Amino acid sequence: MEQQRIAFTGTSSARACNVLMIYPKFATESFWNFSEACELVGARYPATPLGLITVAALLPKSWNVRLVNRNTEELTESDLAWADMAMTGGMLFQQADTLRLIDMCRARGLPIVIGGPDATSSPHQYAGANFRVLGEVEGIIHEFIAAWDEGKREGLFVAPKFTVDVTKTPIPRFDLLKFEQYLYIGVQFSRGCPFTCEFCDIIELYGRSPRTKTHDQMLAELEALYQLGYRGHVDFVDDNLIGNKKAIKAFLPVLEKWIEQRDFPFEFSTEASLNLADDAELLAMLNRSNFFAVFVGIESPDEDTLLAMRKKQNMRRSIADSVHKIYRAGMFVTAGFILGFDTEKGSVARPMIDLIEEAAIPIAMVGLLYALPNTQLTRRLAKEGRLHVGHDASPEGKGDQCTAGVNYETKRPRLEILRDYRKVLDEIYDPDAYCGRLERLSAMLDCSSRRKELPEGDVRRRLSTIRMVHEMLSRLPEGRERFWKTLTACMASNPQSVRAIVTLMAFYLHIGPYSRHVIKQIDRQIEELEHGRFIAPQLLPPVTAEPLTINA
Ligand code: SF4
Repeated sequence: MEQQRIAFTGTSSARACNVLMIYPKFATESFWNFSEACELVGARYPATPLGLITVAALLPKSWNVRLVNRNTEELTESDLAWADMAMTGGMLFQQADTLRLIDMCRARGLPIVIGGPDATSSPHQYAGANFRVLGEVEGIIHEFIAAWDEGKREGLFVAPKFTVDVTKTPIPRFDLLKFEQYLYIGVQFSRGCPFTCEFCDIIELYGRSPRTKTHDQMLAELEALYQLGYRGHVDFVDDNLIGNKKAIKAFLPVLEKWIEQRDFPFEFSTEASLNLADDAELLAMLNRSNFFAVFVGIESPDEDTLLAMRKKQNMRRSIADSVHKIYRAGMFVTAGFILGFDTEKGSVARPMIDLIEEAAIPIAMVGLLYALPNTQLTRRLAKEGRLHVGHDASPEGKGDQCTAGVNYETKRPRLEILRDYRKVLDEIYDPDAYCGRLERLSAMLDCSSRRKELPEGDVRRRLSTIRMVHEMLSRLPEGRERFWKTLTACMASNPQSVRAIVTLMAFYLHIGPYSRHVIKQIDRQIEELEHGRFIAPQLLPPVTAEPLTINA
């Protein structure tokens, strides 16, 4: 690989320094780790630590960087002994391991620097670190580097909000990644989202005016990956890729040309708001640019609940029809659903299940509402005195909102919410129901313009051999015959959809057993509530809330 052709921009520094970047471990119990699917194709974790490799690109060229991802590899004593400084940070469900890392580094006298979204939202949790570098790192890293060079070994640095010019963000240090460890590689085009969903922390962290990279900059990132030899699935990690429609529409033809010239080395996925379905031109552009999957936040089938959470973009429409439009543009949809909102009138389980079935969404990430730190929701609940003590501390061992959700006093009885939740999980992840959705998806998914063969080196090619399909199906915990039947039916009716169908079956290796595991945990809570053994968490006293507006 011609690494020298890739220009990494770093700040200057007088001295050399060995920087150990450590990506903290997510709790093992999580909907999102798709561990069995990773194992099947020889990967160790789905996603890459894009934030840390972006920070790495911002460091002085005289500093040496070593990356250890605790989700894919061991952190050794020799790594720690090599380092002059450790840098870490991540999301809420990495908090427990991040705190362990602080202790580990402090015990060895190794200065540790914390940044990232959770530290920005809950800086008090990380007071034990030597340095806290908060907010968007490009806006503050130079101050930290100057302080380090001056010999300071403690400090708090806070970036001004939403002012970072992302067109100056350097190419992430993709060269630090061991590609074979991951299912896909992340890149980012934009930051911020124009919507106002009450539970969302993106708009608090990155603002409501999406800032986008330049076309050349984005292509340089993709070229860097291409030159490093990566082939396969690339995820645009943008929280809403279509947040600035004008900008993405201007970029996609450029991307289309780039990818065609290289004979489609990558297939893309992303996250987008459901109004994507309203724009046929944009859907066609994404299709031509080789996007094959999109995550959409649907949240609730209940219009009053959507209105109350300020998710107006999902209202006054048939959600199922919108999803089907995306299928007809050649992309399958995975979607987020949440239970536990104040406005739910009685049981929402049946309408939620019906919507998931009607829309034919195989992977529906159904979770319990979690009041994330630094959101409009959490400020409102704090004002109403409804937040649990420790609401912003990631519970040890719990890896997502499936098991850790409802960290506040609910309006509907907690017992009803939990009963609804276990019912939804139980029905939608029954093998028969899952296969039914796969078959209906296959009937709608138009992959006619997709390149038939995946490129050489794409980890997903391993799934396309008959031997591997047998292997996958033999690993299924239940319903093997049903999955075989579905696969043969899809092969007969829409062979071009089979790649997506096999991928979604591989994900079921994780989702099927994980949903059963969550149900068991929820059943325990239900039993405690039914028998009066549930110990209600303590509530924080009401606080005088900040105004319920967000920074635009
Ligand atoms: S659309 Fe998504 S990213 Fe945008 S505010 Fe809503 S939840 Fe957040």
